[in-house]
Amino acid sequence: APYQVADVHELLDSTLLMLAGKMGSGIKVVKEYDRTLPRIPAYPGELNQVWTNLIDNAVSAMDGEGTLTVRTALDRDQLLVEFRDSGPGVPAEIRDRIFDPFFTTKPVGEGTGLGLDISWRIVANKHHGSIHVESVPGNTRFQVRLPLTATDT
Ligand code: ADP
Ligand code: MG
Repeated sequence: APYQVADVHELLDSTLLMLAGKMGSGIKVVKEYDRTLPRIPAYPGELNQVWTNLIDNAVSAMDGEGTLTVRTALDRDQLLVEFRDSGPGVPAEIRDRIFDPFFTTKPVGEGTGLGLDISWRIVANKHHGSIHVESVPGNTRFQVRLPLTATDT
């Protein structure tokens, strides 16, 4: 199917709405949207899957208590979507492996270890974008960068 031209804020809002019930009252959600950003070429269902995975990870890292900040911005010639959480962070010794398929630190039955692998493939292969993580205890950012315009191939 061809891509659509989508407003990432609409996609983020629909994912946040869908996950609101699971988040509980201890998680504060802060939206820092740059509403002037243009619509971008996107596969909406698949981007929603990426947002779902990243938000789900952030929420489970915070364990019921904390702040999730969803920020959008223009970053050079790309659209940046950043998910920031106040959880304990990604330990340095596993940071190289969290995007590997089946890598999880969650108990059996709670994590498949596929969320970041799938998200990476959706962003990189389908959208020609990238995912990047920066993490210190109390401040973890997963950054998704997406091209503003359609690329060939
Ligand atoms: P799963 O959620 O099933 O474990 P993922 O691929 O989504 O699989 O994530 C892999 C691992 O990356 C997690 O088990 C966790 O250790 C780490 N991780 C991902 N997001 C975060 C986060 N926001 N804070 C801390 N650790 C994280
Ligand atoms: Mg996950």
